Amino acid sequence: MLALSDLRRSIQRKATEPLNATRALELLHLDPLVTLRLLRLATTPSYGKQATALTLPMIANMVGEAVIRRALDVPVVATAGAESLRKLWLHSIATALAARALAQGTADLDPEAAYLAGLLHDLPQWLTLLAEHAGSQHAGPFENWVRHWHLPLPLSEILLDLNGKSDGAPNTQGGTLIRAAELLAELAGFDDGLSRSPAALLQQFALLDSEPLFAAEQLRREVEHVLDAVGISLAPSGTNAEVADAKLQPTIGNLAAPVLPSTPDVLLGLLGSKRWKSYRSIFMEGTVAALRHFGFDRALYVTWMRASGCVAVRYKADLSSRRMVERWIAPSAGETEKLADALATERAVLLSATLPAAGLLHHFGMDEALAIPINRTFATPAFLLLDRTLSARNIDLPIEEGPATLLGLTISLLNENLLLKRRQQRAQKFAVTDPLTRLFNRRHGVLAVDQELARFRRSSRPLTVLMIDLDEFKKLNDAFGHLMGDVALRTTADVMRRTLRKSDTLCRFGGEEFLVVLPDTEPQDASILAARLFIAIEASGHTIGLPTTASIGLASAQMDDTIESLLARADRALYASKSLGRNRFSVDAAID
Ligand code: GH3
Ligand code: MG
Ligand code: MG
Repeated sequence: MLALSDLRRSIQRKATEPLNATRALELLHLDPLVTLRLLRLATTPSYGKQATALTLPMIANMVGEAVIRRALDVPVVATAGAESLRKLWLHSIATALAARALAQGTADLDPEAAYLAGLLHDLPQWLTLLAEHAGSQHAGPFENWVRHWHLPLPLSEILLDLNGKSDGAPNTQGGTLIRAAELLAELAGFDDGLSRSPAALLQQFALLDSEPLFAAEQLRREVEHVLDAVGISLAPSGTNAEVADAKLQPTIGNLAAPVLPSTPDVLLGLLGSKRWKSYRSIFMEGTVAALRHFGFDRALYVTWMRASGCVAVRYKADLSSRRMVERWIAPSAGETEKLADALATERAVLLSATLPAAGLLHHFGMDEALAIPINRTFATPAFLLLDRTLSARNIDLPIEEGPATLLGLTISLLNENLLLKRRQQRAQKFAVTDPLTRLFNRRHGVLAVDQELARFRRSSRPLTVLMIDLDEFKKLNDAFGHLMGDVALRTTADVMRRTLRKSDTLCRFGGEEFLVVLPDTEPQDASILAARLFIAIEASGHTIGLPTTASIGLASAQMDDTIESLLARADRALYASKSLGRNRFSVDAAID
């Protein structure tokens, strides 16, 4: 209702001082509509079950400062020609103050909860008046809206009590208290436009055991006081600047133009980033970009499980640190149809809340949302759901659809790009990996020998290779079966990998034969390494109950070596180890 330019002006006057928590709360106390929006956000089911009997300080505490600032920054509703709105506003404040005072004298209702109920007790009239000024009809019975807004008890009970049957006496204690407060407000001169004669009021008041005229006078002074505190004069705005201003804005409603982003900049920012190492980083940045650059209050990234039809919230950006509790939500039939349409056409669509309330918008406490399709070619497509319910700005689909769709396409593109990159990496890895042992395969091993030989020739730093063959493996297979043979191969591969350095290349050269390439390694050092390998291989065999030993042949590169000659010498050394009785290593004669 900063909607009303009175209040807006007050804020602007104070614009030089920062809007601290105390002042924000002070303004909320005077603003039924912003309070309603914050209350809705506070009780949105996706954030979990809320305590009943909420008060304004509790709501402020729940949603946080950034959200309050956002909620207060709403389009102006001019007051000229809207004296009825101004009247209703003052009536709400007066009723709230009276309700708080009355509650202090009874134990029926917490005084702050009574204030909130007093401030909001005329919601149906607000809706009707605002709709009238916007030239539209407010749809649906009030009970449905109370349900859609998830208003907590006892507030919802009081609202339904008072508005279900406006002339009869209220049924609930809370309703009775608010009705009394309302009468007191009227007596103080703050009627709600439904004229009743003072005599009739006094007569009704006779039922209340108090001195109504004195209380009314006190209430009037209190209203003056709270308005004065934010720089508003109770005198009706006459021929002052406000009216002149208001004439420039004859229509009332949510008039703020949608915030138009500089779409190319936003998209180039996303496309140019080098950070895309995970899908998560993409959808987080995309969600935040939608919130920050497209002027939304909340942005949710949800995936759509086609099998169950539910959506799952994967990420949210909403100016607050509140956690979403319930993450799996079923869209309504109408929403499902719209979402499917958005995916099929790859264009953003507008979801609007329909009554009776159900589905995503109901669950997230949104009036309308822009749904941007993402990853339509993936098994699990996603949507960005964007809304401006908090700041009461409408979504202008014809204007906003284009940029929103482009944002969705950009995020999809980044995802597809990452998918391709991951597939490529997997294919590359597959091409050089032995599937059983996950070591490099022979092809990669030979390539490594080739590269290291070239480096050896350039730098003449030593290069040594080991050829390793497991002993009596045929017997092992025969005795324990082929599957256990495979286990032995994998275990041996793992223990060798752990024993070697990162710079060494270990590959499965053939069935139970391995090649190790050791750059920068003198034969003496390689011998020490080979000794460690013997011990490790034998020990790992013990742990799995299989007899694993290995024979090793060692060869060091010579200047005139080729791949073939070097490996042939290592093989010769290995053969020597075998003929000398296995489980040992031999050095090729060439270096002696
Ligand atoms: P030596 O001590 O002389 O090396 O005797 P060996 O039995 O290990 O040598 P040989 O080369 O005669 O036999 C190698 C055996 O390794 C034969 C083959 O069945 C087995 N082998 C090769 N690849 C695999 C494999 O992937 N899994 C299993 N379980 N066995 C394999
Ligand atoms: Mg063998
Ligand atoms: Mg062999």
